[in-house]
Order: sequence, then structure tokens, then C-alpha cells
Amino acid sequence: MSSVWIDLAYLVAVILFVLGLKGLTHPRTAVRGNLMGAAAMLLAVVVTLFDQQIVGFWLIILGVIVGSGIGAVLATRIAMTAMPQLVALFNGFGGGASVLVAGAALAAGDSVTAKDVIIATAASGFIGAVTFSGSLVAFAKLQELDFIEGISIPYQQWVNAGAAAVCLFLGLLLVLHPEYDTLYWLMAILALGLGVSLVISIGGADMPVVIALLNSYSGLAASATGFVLSNNVLIVAGSLVGASGLILTRIMCDAMNRSLANVLFGTLAPSGGGGESADEVYANVKSTSADEVAMLLDVAQRVVIVPGYGMAVAQAQHTVSDLADALIDRQVRVEFGIHPVAGRMPGHMNVLLAEADVPYDLLREMDDINPTMGQVDVAIVLGANDVVNPLARTDPNSPIAGMPIIDVDKARTVIVIKRSLSPGFAGIPNPLFAAENTLMLFGDGRAAVSDILKAVKEG
Ligand code: NDP
Repeated sequence: MSSVWIDLAYLVAVILFVLGLKGLTHPRTAVRGNLMGAAAMLLAVVVTLFDQQIVGFWLIILGVIVGSGIGAVLATRIAMTAMPQLVALFNGFGGGASVLVAGAALAAGDSVTAKDVIIATAASGFIGAVTFSGSLVAFAKLQELDFIEGISIPYQQWVNAGAAAVCLFLGLLLVLHPEYDTLYWLMAILALGLGVSLVISIGGADMPVVIALLNSYSGLAASATGFVLSNNVLIVAGSLVGASGLILTRIMCDAMNRSLANVLFGTLAPSGGGGESADEVYANVKSTSADEVAMLLDVAQRVVIVPGYGMAVAQAQHTVSDLADALIDRQVRVEFGIHPVAGRMPGHMNVLLAEADVPYDLLREMDDINPTMGQVDVAIVLGANDVVNPLARTDPNSPIAGMPIIDVDKARTVIVIKRSLSPGFAGIPNPLFAAENTLMLFGDGRAAVSDILKAVKEG
């Protein structure tokens, strides 16, 4: 293929990437955006393989079939609730690939000539290795693998600073003496340790920020590798991932009231106890029944449903959509209050509710719904916990201190649907469950909502 056609194909891929990202900003266009991004990636990979002429046509077809097969199995088999782990793995593989590709280019002597290329090689190795090991630790934590819990690194901040400084020094040496590629691998091994050390102590509610940040790192590593290989589409695609990951990090930081510096220097607080014990907090919990909830809904004029991770586990989105329809038919004003970090991935609740055909205009963002929570008759908390925990406002020592929450406690009556009084992701008790205006409906989310729906229809 001539270089003009290759550049043109890359340009088409880049435009598709940008349009795809734009599409992903709204649920209505998200599926189309995703397809555009996938098509752009396919185009970029196939054109690059043709360009390099390393593999033949049939091998490319075989690669596409095998790759698509693995992707299809992953996409259909992985539970929606395990998506963040999958994203963590994808980030990690991206970072690992950058380390290996840049290292291979160095070993092949391709990049020894130009200083800018060798700087890109060092950046790719460093960022890629941190991303790889950090993402594997994030995966293990999200997967709740036992061996990872309780590991701590003494003088962690000093270890991080020391490891980063030595990596920088090795990178500098490499730039001065690119003929010694052992420096590259030494730096990459140390950066692997740094990635582990940066993420290992982060726990509880802080993980979404880490995933978004690692996503950004994987993009930066890919972009640096693009400079190593002089591959324009990799530079642009990596930059897009790096920038969008950083924007997402910023959004998540705001949603959790963390500063970006706090995240970058790895000083996020691990989740932990503090304050009253669960027994003290839950001394006055009142439970209720589906029939009683139906009676409350019968006289309610305005209902806000706040879904959380438990809705995803129970797969209750279709049933709650039916309940919303039934209430709307009875002239009740129904809205869904969406917290930016509800569930286990950004936009988790939006995706599930879109899947259940809940109209977008019923979905209200936290900042939008909070000022009016005082006028809500019934707030139904469906499998949400941390994102409605008032301790975020009242206990400065809590691991979620300062995280904005959906103020369901201001509604006249709060119904909390969950199976027990177990804590959420941050591992702390929730005084909302024992509040004066709260009634607990214990049970699996889907079964409980289905019982309420039945009672509403019969009533
Ligand atoms: P939480 O994890 O705080 O709470 C979920 C609750 O759902 C649990 O207390 C659990 O209680 C309940 N639950 C589980 N299964 C069921 C079921 N089958 N039926 C009914 N209830 C069920 O979820 P939130 O959405 O409130 O908060 C999200 C948390 O996750 C935040 O701390 C956030 O920082 C963190 N996080 C968010 C990410 C994101 O990107 N959105 C990524 C990673 C972490 P019980 O067991 O008693 O039923």
C-alpha cells in the first residue's frame, strides 16, 4: 500500500475515533459511538499490518477471527458487575504491550538514532510498566482476591518517591546511552514495583478514580509507543485515551471530592472503620413489607428511585422500570437519581436503566435532583449504600468524608431495599438505615421490587 493510502486510512480511523468518543458522551448515541470506535480500531490494525508487510492476508483474517472470538466470549460471559475488573485488565494489557513493543524496538536498534525517539521509548517503558502492575493490583482488589488484602508497604510514600526518582535516573541514563538496553529493562522492572506500591494501599471507595487514571496512563504509554514506531494513528489514539481518561479521572475526583494531586501522589485513604460500630448505628432499624411500601406509594405524588450496585447484582433494572411505569400510569411523578459513582463503573446505572428502556428524561443527575429532595414523598434506595450514606457529610474521619451523596435522607419517607445491613464498597455502616424516616425492605432487589409492583397493581 502506498503511504498516501495508509495515511488516508489512518485519518479515517482517527475521525472515527473522535466521533466515537463524542457518541459515547450520551446514552442515546453510545452504542453507535462504540461501534465507530471498534471499526476505527479494526481499520487501524489491518492497515498497519498491511503496511508493515510482516504477515500475509490470511494471517490477518485469522487474527481478526481469533481476536473477535475472544472479545465476543468476554463480552457475553463477563457479568456487568465484573466490568471494572475487565477494564483494569484491558488497561494493564495495554500498558504491558507498550513496554514490550518499545523494548523490542530498542533491542532492534530502531530508536537509537534520534534523542526524541529514545525519550519516547523510556516514557513508554516507564508509564507502561506502572500501568501494567498497577492495573493487575486493581484487578485483584476489585476481584476481592484474598492474597491482596492486608498487604502494606512500610514507608510507602518514601518508597514511591525513591522508586520514581531511580526510574527517572535510569531513563536519563538510557537517553544518554541508548546502546545499553539493559537500562531500559531495569527501569521497567523498577516501574513494575512502583505500580504495585502506588495501588496496593488504595482501597474502598477510591478505586474508580484509580481505574480512570490507569486508563489514562495506558493511553499515554500507547501514545509514547506511537512516537517510537512513528505510527500516527497510535499517537492520536493513545492521546485520545490519555486525555479522555484524565477527564474521566477529574469527573470521578469531583464526584468523590478527591483532589487530583491526592490521586497522583497515591495518598488516597484506604477504607476502614472509625466512628460508631455497626451495632450502635443500627440500634433503631425499622423493617417494612412490600404491601406497606405499596400503601405509601399509593398516596405519594413524587417518587425518586436511587439505584446502586445492588440493582446490578439483582438485575432488577427491568422490574424497577415496570414499577416506574405503573406509578407513572397512576399520575405519580417518578425520577431516577443517578450518582456518578453508583455501581462499579462510570455510567453503570445509566447503562442498566437504558437496557431496561427507562426514558432518559427520567434520569436526573445528583446535582440536579439534590436541591429538590426535600419535596420528595418517597425515596426508594435500590441496592445503593455508599452513595446515600450521610456519614459522607457528617463524619470527617469517614473514608467517604466529603464525597457528595444523593440526599435521600431529606425525603419524607425513605425505603431502602437490600438483603441485609451489610456495608457497601467502602465497608462502613450507614446511619441512613436507622434514620427516623427510613424503612428497610430486606430482600433481593429484583424480588422485592417485583413484590412491590404486585402489591401496587393489586392495591
Ligand atoms: P455499594 O457498594 O455501596 O452498596 C451496594 C449494596 O447493594 C450493598 O450494601 C448490598 O447490601 C446491596 N446488594 C448487593 N446485592 C444485592 C441484591 N441482590 N439485592 C439488593 N441489594 C443488594 O454501592 P453504591 O452503588 O451505593 O456505591 C458504589 C460504591 O462503589 C462507591 O463506594 C464507589 O466509590 C465504589 N466504586 C464505584 C465504581 C464506579 O466507577 N462506579 C468503581 C469501583 C468502586 P446487601 O449485601 O445487604 O444486600
